[in-house]
Amino acid sequence: MPKLELHLHLEGAAPPAFIRGLAQEKKIDISGIFDEAGNYRYKDFWDFLKVYEAATSVLTSPSDYARLTRAVLEESAASGVIYSECFLSPDFCGGRDLGAWREYLHAIREAADQAERQDGIILRGIITCIRHFGPEKARETAVCAAETAGDWIVGFGIAGDEKAGKPRDFLWSFDCAREAGLRLTAHAGEWGGPDSVRDALNDLRVERIGHGVRAIEDLVLVDELAERGTVLEVCPGSNIALGIYPTWRAHPIGQLYDRGVKVTVSTDDPPFFHTTMTREYDRLADAFDWDAGVFETLSRTALDAAFCDSKTKTTIAKKLEAAHA
Ligand SMILES: [Zn+2]
Repeated sequence: MPKLELHLHLEGAAPPAFIRGLAQEKKIDISGIFDEAGNYRYKDFWDFLKVYEAATSVLTSPSDYARLTRAVLEESAASGVIYSECFLSPDFCGGRDLGAWREYLHAIREAADQAERQDGIILRGIITCIRHFGPEKARETAVCAAETAGDWIVGFGIAGDEKAGKPRDFLWSFDCAREAGLRLTAHAGEWGGPDSVRDALNDLRVERIGHGVRAIEDLVLVDELAERGTVLEVCPGSNIALGIYPTWRAHPIGQLYDRGVKVTVSTDDPPFFHTTMTREYDRLADAFDWDAGVFETLSRTALDAAFCDSKTKTTIAKKLEAAHA
């Protein structure tokens, strides 16, 4: 089944073996972030952020990011992903320096073009600022986003520790990105409750919410989301791995879908959460008895909500039609 993925952090999708290999090449010792089986090891979300940053620390050049992009897209294509939007952080790519960022972006795009020719998978980028790095750094990130906005960098968002600061602290950055023609999304309703979703919608005026699942704690908000047609980038395996919900059956995606909220499915940081798009689909089918029709609806929702241009959407729509014919 062809899949569309709207919520994937490029560094967070780095296969552990790839990061270990790169660390060895560069003689950087990050052995502490891996367990005996060679997977990423962390205790909780805050520890996960630290391990994430340690893993990312070995990615220091545009060519590292080109290799990373190829490794990630190979994994995605193997799961049947035909279209992917991934989060890119100028914080990690050149320390928010615009000239350096352009070089990283060029390398990433070349690798993506190569993957598209080889496997047919289409990638587009959403630039994200990191919430716990603060609003000042976010402004620099937004400038990088605005200066490289176009048919490939299609969106702007915010990730990182949801408990650091308030969405309105990042107003300037979101206005800057919006004025540059970028479409907007924000992580909310993962570690924060329903009010964090409201703040992202009202203060930052985003059209999609990254996660947003804790909206379920306020059914008035759930109905509002359904009415407004706000799309949630739901990452069930991520939420379960980080302990927000104990089991797949307890995850609110089924309820949100039943109440008419536009949900999509993504992996977030797949190797950290021992997941793939195929695994997400399999677990959801098991937990909620979802059949092919439901997954087709998810794909169509994701296609409508994708930030790419209409020409790209037509290409993807044809692939979906061909698969479902
Ligand atoms: Zn995320």
